[in-house]
Amino acid sequence: MMERSAKGHHRQISKIGTAVANRGEKAWGAIPTTATIDGNAVAIPVGLACGMKPGKTLLLLAGQHCGELNGMEVIRRTFDAVDVRKLRGRLIVLPVANPLQIKWPLNRENPHWLKEVADLFKVNMNRVWPGKRNGNAVERMAYAMSRVFPEVDCLIDFHTWSSQYPAAIVKKGFAAGLRLARHSGIGAVALEEPDSLVGGLKDLQMYASRKLGIPAMTVELPENRVLTEKNIQLGLKVVQNTMRHLKMLPGKPEPNPQQFFITYNKHFHEIRPTAEGLFVPLKDLGELVAKGELLGRIYSMDTFRPVQDLGSPVSGVLFAFSDVDCATNILRRGERAALVYELAITASGRARAPGADARRKTGQAKA
Ligand SMILES: [Zn+2]
Repeated sequence: MMERSAKGHHRQISKIGTAVANRGEKAWGAIPTTATIDGNAVAIPVGLACGMKPGKTLLLLAGQHCGELNGMEVIRRTFDAVDVRKLRGRLIVLPVANPLQIKWPLNRENPHWLKEVADLFKVNMNRVWPGKRNGNAVERMAYAMSRVFPEVDCLIDFHTWSSQYPAAIVKKGFAAGLRLARHSGIGAVALEEPDSLVGGLKDLQMYASRKLGIPAMTVELPENRVLTEKNIQLGLKVVQNTMRHLKMLPGKPEPNPQQFFITYNKHFHEIRPTAEGLFVPLKDLGELVAKGELLGRIYSMDTFRPVQDLGSPVSGVLFAFSDVDCATNILRRGERAALVYELAITASGRARAPGADARRKTGQAKA
């Protein structure tokens, strides 16, 4: 689909769901949905901030999945801090896109929720976009939110993941999405192909990019289940850079000279020890590594002697540690200790320099 031209926003009064704001005003409201839980209609909170001057409309969304909290806090602080006298255009925020999952901790003792929500927990909201008018509760909520998209010029969908480096995921080959990720200043940009197993075509970022032509990115801010200040600050920086890139705020986005690109779910290598014990990493996530470079060591938990050195099988970037839930650093034989991505070829077709040489060259890539 062609990249569309910016619509801009010139109206005096805006209304999103029940949130109504004039130029120079902020308002909270709700998007009503036809989904019901516990006999009550589910409403999705929405915030609307209208700048004094015309400009782009940015949608920030978070909370599609249970326990993914950092994006919600990034949105809360961004919305509180935004100065509508300086803002150009409009900010629309949906910090709790899926109240069934995000508000689950408040309702976990409620027998109606236990009965009704259990099955809906199996429905991944980020695989149902743009939702269905008469679908299940999750599809109905997505449908109600997707009515907002015609108003939107740009979209950031916040998620979290654990034991992985923070990243922006964008559709491969969609230049506007790639520009968005580059200017966001985030360390890792993951280029996602439509046939990716994880994303799928009904992923919000992929749907917005591919079907609507809206520059969109999924931003993963570790960790799951807890607010982590370092990653909240990263998210705030991503939003600020994006708003500058869109000329909604004065100033230029701050580039990240360390930014690197990977192809999401492709060209990665998992390091799985043949010994068991305590895995002690010797590198941080996001570090560029050369082929053969030591990533970490397995120690016996009986003798506390080293039993295996784990080197990188390729040149690339250390991107993730264990995906074992119970104790990330205590590994059985064959469980993943680390994951290294090869650096990707950017949209311009230029190969990224691998290994020790890569650190110096990372900042020079143009997309
Ligand atoms: Zn998620």
